[in-house]
Amino acid sequence: MKTATCPRCHQPVNSQVVTCPYCRTQLKAYGHPGIPLHRGNGVDYLCDSCTYHTDDSCNFPQRPYAQECTLYENFAEYELELQRQTQANSFGVVVRNWLRHNQALMLLLGLLFICFAIALSAS
Ligand code: SF4
Ligand SMILES: [Zn+2]
Repeated sequence: MKTATCPRCHQPVNSQVVTCPYCRTQLKAYGHPGIPLHRGNGVDYLCDSCTYHTDDSCNFPQRPYAQECTLYENFAEYELELQRQTQANSFGVVVRNWLRHNQALMLLLGLLFICFAIALSAS
């Protein structure tokens, strides 16, 4: 079971629950467990840290003063995730290129390993 934290009472709750069992705060929109309802902290507007406000693609009427939103996406987390993916991709590219350039070496190592395994099983 995945857990989340209630934004109002900060208790750990099942990430699927529609309302917080402790303080009854609504956590999902339209009573549907698959539609998260993001909430501001009561001081800052959600839009200030939202990807769709930053890239100016949001046309919700509550923008830029949303305290509750179903579409909110944290811009900083989005950027971090992008960076992580780029790093993972570039690491994968480096490994693939290295393997491509060292195919002969890998083949030789593979043959050596097989010889070694045969020698071990024969003794
Ligand atoms: S998606 Fe919601 S939080 Fe984001 S800019 Fe639009 S109204 Fe604001
Ligand atoms: Zn709560």
